[in-house]
Amino acid sequence: MINLVLFGPPGAGKGTQAERLVEKYNLVHLSTGDIFRRNIKAGTELGVLAKSYMNDGNLVPDEVTIQMLESEVNSHPQAKGFIFDGFPRTQKQAEALDAFLASKDMAITAMLALNVDDDELTARLLNRAKTSGRPDDADPSIIANRIVVYKKETAPVANFYEGQNKLHVVDGVGSIDDISQRLFQAVDNYGK
Ligand code: AMP
Repeated sequence: MINLVLFGPPGAGKGTQAERLVEKYNLVHLSTGDIFRRNIKAGTELGVLAKSYMNDGNLVPDEVTIQMLESEVNSHPQAKGFIFDGFPRTQKQAEALDAFLASKDMAITAMLALNVDDDELTARLLNRAKTSGRPDDADPSIIANRIVVYKKETAPVANFYEGQNKLHVVDGVGSIDDISQRLFQAVDNYGK
C-alpha cells in the first residue's frame, strides 16, 4: 500500500500532479479543499462553516478537518492507497493522521513536497482564478494571506515528516510532465 502526502504552498500544482499520481499508482485522491468546496456547493452545515474561513484564506479548524478526513478514509475500505492533497496542514493534523493510520495498520509512505517560489505562486493563482471561479484565487490580498498562513502553520509540517525520513522535496517549476516524472521517480524510490 502506498500512502502519499502531496505537499506544497497554494498554487504549487498539487491538484494537477495528484491526478497524475492517482492514475499511475491507483490511489484514492483525498483533497480536503475539494471536499470543503463540494460541501459549500451542497449547502451542508460543514460547507457553511468552512466557507467563512476559506474565503478569507484561513484554515478551517483542525477538529472539523480531521474528523472529515477520517470519515473519508473510512469510506474507502477497498483502497490500494491514498494520496492526501492539502492535508495535513498543521502539526496537529499530521499527528492525528499518523495516529489514525496506525490504528488501521497503515502509515504514510512519503511526503512529496513541491517547491515553488512566491512570485510564481501568486502569478499561477491569479491565472487560475480566470477559470477556477474560486474567490480565494481572485483577490491578491487573500492569496497573500494564504501564503502567510502556509508559511506559519503549514510549512513546519514538512519537519514532522523529515524527522521520520519521509520528506522528499521536488522542484515544482517546469513542464507538468517533467514534474510528474520527478514525482514518479521519488515514489518508485520508496518502493511499493
Ligand atoms: P486548497 O483547495 O487545498 O487550496 O484549500 C482551500 C482552502 O480550504 C484553504 O485555504 C483552507 O481554508 C481550506 N482547507 C483545505 N484543506 C485544509 C486543511 N487540511 N486544514 C484546514 N483548512 C483546509
